[in-house]
Amino acid sequence: MRIFNTETVDKIGQEVELKGWVNARRDMGKITFLDLRDRSGLLQVVGVPSELDEKSLEEIKRARLEYLVEMHGVVQARGAKQQNAELPTGKVEVLAKSFKVISESSAMPFEVDGDTKNISEELRLKYRYLDLRSERMKKNLEVRHTGNLFFRNYLSSLGFWEIETPYLTKGTPEGAREFIVPSRLYPGEFYVLPQSPQQFKQLLMVGGAEKYFQIARCFRDEDQRGDRQPEFTQLDLEVSFTDQEEILNLMEKMIMKLVEENFSHLKIQKKPFPRLTYAEAQKKYNSDKPDLRKDKTDKTELAFAWVTDFPLFERSETEDKLVSTHHPFTRPQDEDLKLLDKSPEKVRSFAYDLVLNGFEIGGGSLRIFDGALQKKIFEILGLDEKEINSRFGHMLEAFTFGVPPHGGLALGLDRLYAILQNEENIREVIPFPKTGDAKDLMMGAPSPLPEQALKDVHIKKS
Ligand code: ASP
Repeated sequence: MRIFNTETVDKIGQEVELKGWVNARRDMGKITFLDLRDRSGLLQVVGVPSELDEKSLEEIKRARLEYLVEMHGVVQARGAKQQNAELPTGKVEVLAKSFKVISESSAMPFEVDGDTKNISEELRLKYRYLDLRSERMKKNLEVRHTGNLFFRNYLSSLGFWEIETPYLTKGTPEGAREFIVPSRLYPGEFYVLPQSPQQFKQLLMVGGAEKYFQIARCFRDEDQRGDRQPEFTQLDLEVSFTDQEEILNLMEKMIMKLVEENFSHLKIQKKPFPRLTYAEAQKKYNSDKPDLRKDKTDKTELAFAWVTDFPLFERSETEDKLVSTHHPFTRPQDEDLKLLDKSPEKVRSFAYDLVLNGFEIGGGSLRIFDGALQKKIFEILGLDEKEINSRFGHMLEAFTFGVPPHGGLALGLDRLYAILQNEENIREVIPFPKTGDAKDLMMGAPSPLPEQALKDVHIKKS
């Protein structure tokens, strides 16, 4: 049975079967040294002619970089001088007894035996499947798995259910432009891809789910800025019968445990996380996502902070109207309700953001659960009766059926993992990201479609 490279360390003297890629090769006279790479790490393999049959000897001779090979061999301890402290398998090597090439490799477009950070990103993204072979990228994949599994286990242990919500839906206007999907069955009609599961998770609360979470893909058709991605992943959650304090504490404890258990080389600068109101943050730091690190050059410092009491509305940058600071389902603070009519801009909300080292890594709010108040908010946002009913009629109707007070939050997992892995760009922790200008260079998306495919969904070529 094939074992992982790193499993050889406690198998000295035993015969093992290994499969992996040739990461490096050194020929010293008749002896061949190969660094064999698999998902677990590197392992030194030694090929000595006297130990191998003729066919194996031929095979080991033709094994070039990135050829995939399989072998049997005996694990042996390396002499004190030959040990390599850099490798997890540095105290052993495997003396090959049989050797075979499984699959050859073309010349590589770039080397993957080191950090690929300095290779052109276009090239890395075109050949993402090769880039993922490199140590750092593999670690980033693993960290996503470890983190996601941690969140699932943690929330499940608290009684949360993981519930999936649709990707083909109707708009969830939270400010961003939505991707639209033409309907073949209903000419001229469209689904949109959700920018978050916001409405569904609220309707799950109406449905009595009480504690929901989901590792959800969100889609936003925004002009690409910085390292935004058209699709990204959130840890999304919602709780019934809750208050702001409970949600903030839940998140805080969960994140502290994530870091303690899985990133113990990092230190959280302040526990509990500092809390600032939006007004305080603006006054003190002129920002709603202040970077509270003491030493910004210290790569092990994690400075979390909560920013609370966001204004319910803000002025639109492009039009003369109010828009929601978070989204239109956010609950205004009770004591400010009286300001809704005369000075809506002064109304504070139960909305909060989680900030890490100057980045917003999450945000959420308590939600409106009263139909009349929800309708009033839509009106202040400039929607008329008809628009309210066509876009949000289902929400208003749902709010007539015994609705629990509820609230929640979503954590941006790509950004969180990027910071924890000390990566500057979220693309580094996304297995198959798009470029800064929204292209998938590996698959070649977006791409034109055959005319018939367009006709089927009732799209005319202009
Ligand atoms: N749906 C919100 C967002 O995507 C998060 C929330 O309010 O729970 O930012």
